[in-house]
Amino acid sequence: MKIMTKESHLVRLKTDVLENFRTRLKGLVLKPGDAAYEESRTVWNDMIQRRPALVVKCLGTADVIASVQFARDNNLLLCIKSGGHNIAGLAVADDALMLDMSLMRGVWVDTNKKIAHAQAGCLLGDVDRETQIHGLAAVLGFISQTGISGLTLGGGFGYLTRRWGWTADNLTGIDVVTADGKLVRASDQENPDLFWGMRGGGGNFGVVTGIDYKLYPIGPEIVGGLVAWPASEALKVLELYRMLAEDAPRELTLVAIIRPAPPAPWLPSQWHGKMIAGILACYTGNPDEGEKIVAPIKSFGKPIGDVLVRRPYTQIQSLLDATQPKGRHNYWKSEYIDSIDPELCEKIVRHTESIPSRHSALVLFQIEGALNELDVDYSPAGNRNARYVFNAVGSWEKSESDNENLKWVRCVWNDIKEFSTGSSYINFLTEDESDERVKASLGKAIKRLREIKAKWDPNNLFRTNRNIKPA
Ligand SMILES: Cc1cc2nc3c(=O)[nH]c(=O)nc-3n(C[C@H](O)[C@H](O)[C@H](O)COP(=O)(O)OP(=O)(O)OC[C@H]3O[C@@H](n4cnc5c(N)ncnc54)[C@H](O)[C@@H]3O)c2cc1C
Repeated sequence: MKIMTKESHLVRLKTDVLENFRTRLKGLVLKPGDAAYEESRTVWNDMIQRRPALVVKCLGTADVIASVQFARDNNLLLCIKSGGHNIAGLAVADDALMLDMSLMRGVWVDTNKKIAHAQAGCLLGDVDRETQIHGLAAVLGFISQTGISGLTLGGGFGYLTRRWGWTADNLTGIDVVTADGKLVRASDQENPDLFWGMRGGGGNFGVVTGIDYKLYPIGPEIVGGLVAWPASEALKVLELYRMLAEDAPRELTLVAIIRPAPPAPWLPSQWHGKMIAGILACYTGNPDEGEKIVAPIKSFGKPIGDVLVRRPYTQIQSLLDATQPKGRHNYWKSEYIDSIDPELCEKIVRHTESIPSRHSALVLFQIEGALNELDVDYSPAGNRNARYVFNAVGSWEKSESDNENLKWVRCVWNDIKEFSTGSSYINFLTEDESDERVKASLGKAIKRLREIKAKWDPNNLFRTNRNIKPA
């Protein structure tokens, strides 16, 4: 069989070499044509269609070690897929050796130390499910099917970010198989340089096999959900959002969403497909207090739907899942924003009038809080001046509509980027983003990251990512 080297040459892999590799593994080895190959090679964003030569479905750390050693000894191009949610499709490369981590989904909770150890193939929902048994939660993102590994290595934000910072700011350790094929522990005590680099520097330094998250008492009941109004009220809704967000306690996270109404049961059917403006709120403190705090949202104007209620924390963590299924065409443009300018709101509203797909949206996530108070270089997730994430979300079904949708997203972005801090969330960058955008996301951390890369992966084995070249 033919397989790609690190330097992008196709070479022949001899049958006996492959068979010998197989004997070192407990997990499955898949090739094109095998039944499970298609599921492994496809990612959330259907615009990405790549075909690795070989997939190893790792069944434990020993499989990861054997695979990294095999890739290194044969100079192979290696890619790693955990949740497969990266919009740029960084998890998969043509003709490469791919490690599919999706069978490694165990979670162990230490209630005394308030730490969860999660295997690298976990989705966010796996961690929430196990930690919530104990009324605890890690700082994770908004969609329960996203992979923990890519999210954490690139920063990570969600409903708890305002209280405790980036996901990457809230780790106690990472287990990683490095380029020499050894299992290494990275923490403040052991290999602190590696630990620092992995908390925002992506998968540049090795294959993560497990992550230890700090846990915080949350729920199990919180106050959360959405309220939606007709888009004719969008400017007023954004003004309400701005006002509430500016004064919001850290327990409250607010997200503004303008989009065509999805066919959700809580929205009257005559509204499905029509433009709406919504506020998604989540209050993770005392629910009695939460009900008072979200009251101004619920009593504002005449909502067409309101599911902002007391509910389990695990429910709010998966509330948006149905709107983000695997297999659509997706294209985003995103920026960090440090304050909400009325002119930005006007532009957002204007662009939603020409939205070409019923799945697309313009979204503002509030992240302001703890992350702004940590030292600039506490972790390379950095961006300590970011207070909101703006995302122009293009999502549609058929490739015939690619051009129209790409054009719309780029047009929105061109018009709103003047409000940016000058940087954007690295995990939201699409396939066609420039090196300059990646550099801007990493900021000054890049110098130290290159030194760490030179120490831990001098030959750049781990390159199918937002690649940091060794210094
Ligand atoms: C619908 C949707 C919702 C999202 N919501 C949020 C959100 O709320 N908050 C947020 O912060 N982000 C969010 N994201 C962005 C998300 O953080 C990134 O897409 C992230 O890359 C997903 O992680 P993954 O494990 O699924 O990635 P994958 O696509 O599997 O991998 C992404 C990158 O990480 C590397 N990688 C993966 N696993 C490992 C490993 N074990 N060891 C080393 N490197 C590895 C890969 O090589 C690749 O470069 C969302 C994305 C989508 C599509």
